[in-house]
Amino acid sequence: MSVLRRAWSRWSRLELGTRIFAGLVAGIALGLALGPRAEDVRPVGMAFIRLLSMVVVPLVFFSLAGGMASLGDIRAVGRVGAKTLVYYLATTVVAVAIGLGLANVVDPGATVDAESRAKLMASTEGAVDAARVEEVREKTAPLQVLLDMIPRNVFEALARGEMLQIILFSLLFGAALAAIGREKGGRVTELLASANEAMIWMVGAVMRVAPLGVAALMASVVGPLGPSVLRSLAVYAGVVVAGLAVHMFLVYPLLLRLLARRGARWFFRAVRPAQAVAFSTSSSAATLPTSLACSRERLGVSREIGDFCLPLGATVNMDGTALFLAVATLFIAQIYGVTLGFSEQLGLVLTATLASIGTAAVPGASVPLLAMMLGTVGVPLEGVGIILGIDRVLDMCRTVVNITGDLVGVVIVGRSEGKLAEEPPPLP
Ligand code: ASP
Repeated sequence: MSVLRRAWSRWSRLELGTRIFAGLVAGIALGLALGPRAEDVRPVGMAFIRLLSMVVVPLVFFSLAGGMASLGDIRAVGRVGAKTLVYYLATTVVAVAIGLGLANVVDPGATVDAESRAKLMASTEGAVDAARVEEVREKTAPLQVLLDMIPRNVFEALARGEMLQIILFSLLFGAALAAIGREKGGRVTELLASANEAMIWMVGAVMRVAPLGVAALMASVVGPLGPSVLRSLAVYAGVVVAGLAVHMFLVYPLLLRLLARRGARWFFRAVRPAQAVAFSTSSSAATLPTSLACSRERLGVSREIGDFCLPLGATVNMDGTALFLAVATLFIAQIYGVTLGFSEQLGLVLTATLASIGTAAVPGASVPLLAMMLGTVGVPLEGVGIILGIDRVLDMCRTVVNITGDLVGVVIVGRSEGKLAEEPPPLP
């Protein structure tokens, strides 16, 4: 008994990132051992995702409205907002360019032999729902995106988890509290702050079971994947992963060094818990509570910056997704023998960037957008079926890049506003 107790106390003293990582490795091992039967442990992982998702909407509302009410200075908000959006757009465009560059050089479509090609194409039947693609196309038209940010009914927006609408309402509500002054609005502002503390406490409690949840999610993903799908798509997957790695390990460290004077090692150590959660849940939204905690407690970015930039980033800033969309479009076009010239690829930079902004922060959300992009370059929509077999794994990888980009942004914007701790906090 005492052996168990000692092991448990040693385990609980380990750093959170290490514990989650251990869960990740254990889950992979379990998935390999159980094979398709590993699907059975999925509910355990889904419970973890739901526990995190449960707090996302109230957390975003309380933290943004409360942060805005206590910040109070509309000009400061405008300045931070402008910097954040410029950073988000610029890094997304760079990500797409990296993806396109690699996919052109490696030409992954050419590495699929005729037999696998026929097999893959046969598997595309029923892969897309045309009505859904049409809906996505309408929703991502530039002006429509802006219009859709305004909720018709805020309770509907909260209930449906429409992030951009919730963000807009929270900001306006916070601004209103600041405008009516302490006398009239102070009590609600305090209430928001207390509710926010309670949410943060809840996230901390959920994170205690993160290693278990992560292990179950990993097992249920690894188990059912057959080796043959993996083999024929290996080069394509390799290009996506290589592009993501270049963006994460070259572009981000460079930006951190140049714009925030911070080292990559420190950064990657600090954001490890958020990356592990992103990897296992494939959802930027489910990772948001952990990202918020990382930015405050481990990166030393002051709360009002994190509370403002991260919910926005989780929804609109998806570098990994944009890079993936570019590579996948090119790959599927190559398989169908459609050649995309320079100007068409330039167009892809724009569509991939817009599509990544319009992608919801949940697993597999970019697949209908990929279908829409194929349509714009004259490739049959069903082509998405070709890459579906392996998409879950790539989704995990791109979600890690998506949230890492948000966290790099928060450090850079925080530093430029004088809201980044000079001495990084010691890691627990
Ligand atoms: N799963 C991604 C995210 O939540 C979105 C996607 O690319 O499907 O960030």
